Amino acid sequence: MVTSSSTVAIGSWRLEPSVWFVLRSVCIELEPVEAVGATMNGDRMTPDRIAAAGNALASAKTVFVVTGAGISAESGIPTFRGAGGLWEGFRAEELATPAAFEASPERVWRWYLWRREQYHACPPNVGHWALRSLSLSGRQCLIATQNVDGLHRHVGHGDDELVELHGCIEKMHCTRCGRRASLPPVASSPPGELPTCRECGGLMRPHVLWFGESYWDGVLERAAAFAQHADVCLVVGTSAQVWPPIQLALFAQQQGATLIDINPEPTELSNRADIYLRARGGEALSALLEAAGVPLSMPEPEAAG
Ligand SMILES: [Zn+2]
Repeated sequence: MVTSSSTVAIGSWRLEPSVWFVLRSVCIELEPVEAVGATMNGDRMTPDRIAAAGNALASAKTVFVVTGAGISAESGIPTFRGAGGLWEGFRAEELATPAAFEASPERVWRWYLWRREQYHACPPNVGHWALRSLSLSGRQCLIATQNVDGLHRHVGHGDDELVELHGCIEKMHCTRCGRRASLPPVASSPPGELPTCRECGGLMRPHVLWFGESYWDGVLERAAAFAQHADVCLVVGTSAQVWPPIQLALFAQQQGATLIDINPEPTELSNRADIYLRARGGEALSALLEAAGVPLSMPEPEAAG
């Protein structure tokens, strides 16, 4: 299990010993989701839960946030999975793999550029703006997101406030030397030509974590290091089926953070949370900000016509 003197690997995890030692002790034996649903059936955002969550947030200096597909779904971001998710006859699971890229980099690139165009039609929603408002309120925030759509960036979060656990569709990296770069603006993407590395001439690939790949070096460590000192951990719209992000949230809780889970459907995480708000991200986060006395700053909707 130990791969070198300085890092430890468990499956796709690679962590510094100190972080790993603490994470290892986080219990991951969660109750089945059916049991959670039964105990929480009918509960939504009760006023006492909003007040408790608002209090925790009001006094928090550092806030660790984990976001999943649920927050982007409110912007209309499609998941490209499941029934109807076919693109040119392929499922996502057949395109988002190293083998698919090796077989046809051209096809995989076309798929990602097509997805990127779909994403550009989807603006950030009130949930994204609420998280941005939280960081503008003077609190130290770090968002660890499972989403690759870049919507947290669109509201102004920079690299210092963002850990894109699964990468970002706006970026690419070199298959030979690993150099990262941004994709050119959508309108200027030349069709048909595969991008190559400016430094070494290697083939560039989308900077997105594919099925069967390990997390990039330093990504989980950075999130865990922040989570360790968080006063509040907000989990928004995760399915709780992707383990490392959920484990990061449980780790934050174990280290003293108040864990607030926001999800319209209860997950395995919901009954482990200190406060569970059964609602969509936008609705819950705006209520939370109001309860915490944090002003929501978001641009005025553009006038019709
Ligand atoms: Zn290169």
